Amino acid sequence: MRGFTFYERVSRAFNDYPSLSKFLVVFTVSGGGLVAYAEANSTNGAPAIASSESENVKKKVVVLGTGWAGTSFLKNLNNPTYDVQVISPRNYFAFTPLLPSVTCGTVEARSIVEPIRNIVRKKHSEVQYCEAECFKIDAENKKIYCRSTQNGKDEFVVDFDYLIISVGARVNTFNTPGVEEHCHFLKEVEDAQRIRRAVIDCFERASLPTVSDEERKRILHFAIVGGGPTGVEFAAELHDFVKEDLVTLYPRVKDQVKITLLEAGDHILNMFDKRITTFAEDKFGREGIDVKTGSMVVKVSEKEISTKEMKNGKISAMPYGMAVWSTGIGTRPIIVDFMKQIGQANRRVLATDEWLRVEGCDSIYALGDCATINQRKVMEDISAIFSKADADNSGTLTVKEFREVIDDICERYPQVELYLKKKQMSDIFDLLKESKGDDTKESIELNIEEFKSALSQVDSQMKNLPATAQVASQQGVYLANCFNRMEECEKYPEGPLRFRGTGRHRFRPFRYKHLGQFAPLGGEQTAAQLPGDWVSIGKSSQWLWYSVYTSKQVSWRNRVLVVTDWTRRFIFGRDSSRI
Ligand code: FAD
Ligand code: MG
Repeated sequence: MRGFTFYERVSRAFNDYPSLSKFLVVFTVSGGGLVAYAEANSTNGAPAIASSESENVKKKVVVLGTGWAGTSFLKNLNNPTYDVQVISPRNYFAFTPLLPSVTCGTVEARSIVEPIRNIVRKKHSEVQYCEAECFKIDAENKKIYCRSTQNGKDEFVVDFDYLIISVGARVNTFNTPGVEEHCHFLKEVEDAQRIRRAVIDCFERASLPTVSDEERKRILHFAIVGGGPTGVEFAAELHDFVKEDLVTLYPRVKDQVKITLLEAGDHILNMFDKRITTFAEDKFGREGIDVKTGSMVVKVSEKEISTKEMKNGKISAMPYGMAVWSTGIGTRPIIVDFMKQIGQANRRVLATDEWLRVEGCDSIYALGDCATINQRKVMEDISAIFSKADADNSGTLTVKEFREVIDDICERYPQVELYLKKKQMSDIFDLLKESKGDDTKESIELNIEEFKSALSQVDSQMKNLPATAQVASQQGVYLANCFNRMEECEKYPEGPLRFRGTGRHRFRPFRYKHLGQFAPLGGEQTAAQLPGDWVSIGKSSQWLWYSVYTSKQVSWRNRVLVVTDWTRRFIFGRDSSRI
């Protein structure tokens, strides 16, 4: 509480104990305005949380979710003129890239989480948190309906001026029978803790004298479904745990342990460079991890997994003791419902524009795994671009005219730059020259048809962003910066020209900057793929991984805890107690 004024202390006390506000109206000087909080009942019966200001009414920003996107938005929002309400069933942020390490006790669960109240406590602006789940978004009336996670019954309504949807995604079972009932997932901290207990459970069960040899073999067969980064990292972690710790603790059963990695595609880690894929497959092969590619799981029962060979359609079953399902993500029901409401029912993922605004909803933004940016195509706007560029209305574009709008085109349509890069062209005039065939740049003059043909291929470079923490956190930072400068940019727009309208866009569109990706492969070896297709595999990348993941932790507390866990593991090994 150091450094707070008396008024701030009083105000914080009432934020911490909201029930007091039923009896009192508290005035607090915050961000220059006089704020009063009160609880009111909404017309439809469910209590509503509302905040009002007697003078300047603060805009109410509601953030759904405390994951990568929501937390990065909250951390970077520093404009005190918003009244921020965070709603999430999880009262902490979890550093998901280290979840596979939690499954085997390399890192403890509490080391990779940070209470959201710790994060928002450091904010200058008013931020409140409610442990609840939003189950319905009413875009038209700007309300959300929430249910407390304490008892799953208490419901309330929150209204908003701006809604930030960052609820992430759910696991995707592709409706495969038996997966929900019999497989472990690796999405949340609780999942990782359950897996940790289940692994030790298998070893203890297999060590009982009553268990037959055949049964022991089954119990110690660990199946991992999905050869993406999470599945591969878990397989590597489990292999290290067994090899470095469990073989000495369970010497009688160590020879029966088997790890199988099932992947429907031709290769594991198929989003990585070919060199990494081959290295990982060879390494796993040498270490006895059975990598079955081209093998799709079609059914899971209590003790058997049925797979279909992609080549010949042959179905076979294998006994297993524990299975982890990690095959990708699906849309959360609340988003499916919201998409129906706003006319996006035929889409797979919630679509936003390049400013992260949900298409068709001006004051609702969506970021992270729950949404995707629907990048506008150049060809959709080609006539509008042409007429805006043709300043003298001559029906042709000269180089001079084109030069005036070229930066706006590249900013509004990033695919243009990607296309030039791919074609190894130094600037857009090379593209025009290609269509026109003129010798000198300055003499180029294009009509609409020639302009269309010059740009006809650029949209082929459009790509959806991956569902990663890197994207989600960059989107959070971007959106917070937009919110921090909302008024300023309203007056002095800084975005590209509006080709279909007048003036400029308020903000520059979101641009993702890929910083590279890691695939830890166990045995202190990590594969790193950095921008520019720079690939490094081995122990040096493992040290890079340690330092990057330390620096990316959200607090110093987390950094210290994670590094301590790694050191503890080096010295004493992993803990195998089943607690
Ligand atoms: P999340 O981080 O999932 O957060 C969603 C939040 O919304 C949660 O707080 C949740 O409780 C809350 N929520 C859910 N439903 C509701 C509701 N109805 N109302 C309100 N709140 C709700 N990415 C990388 O870039 N690098 C990696 O190394 C990496 N490793 C990973 C390892 C694992 C095991 C996993 C599971 C993921 C990994 N990812 C990695 C992916 C990364 O975690 C996700 O892309 C990222 O979490 C997406 O962020 P998000 O904010 O959209 O969603
Ligand atoms: Mg002209």
